[in-house]
Amino acid sequence: MHDFKFCQEILAALTEKSKKSGKAIKIKSVRVALSPVSHVTPKTLEETFRTMAKNTPFSTVKLYVSPLKLGIKCEACKKGFMVERPTFICPECHSPSLNIIYQKEFAIDSIECQKKLKKPAKTKSKKRR
Ligand SMILES: [Zn+2]
Repeated sequence: MHDFKFCQEILAALTEKSKKSGKAIKIKSVRVALSPVSHVTPKTLEETFRTMAKNTPFSTVKLYVSPLKLGIKCEACKKGFMVERPTFICPECHSPSLNIIYQKEFAIDSIECQKKLKKPAKTKSKKRR
């Protein structure tokens, strides 16, 4: 049921964004990052998003899913790493004493907008204020 929760988050973010940007802006796409620990595949997320966005103003918004990295820190060499998959061996010193310091299942990276095409408004007079 995680995919449902993530899609709700996406739709909430899109709603927020369109409120802020006003009507002259059309949301084109949204980029999200999905961690392998979330147990949701990008395909499932996309399908759920399509279903949930169907009857909203965001039905045409494209969803791009990329892997979300995990932050790990090695207790032996004190180095920090960002990895795409959970690992138990330090890439630097091969010690098994790793701590996951940053683990998020899902994040919204960015929302891309497009200006709606508007007829250029011709003003008759250019008044200075
Ligand atoms: Zn290490």
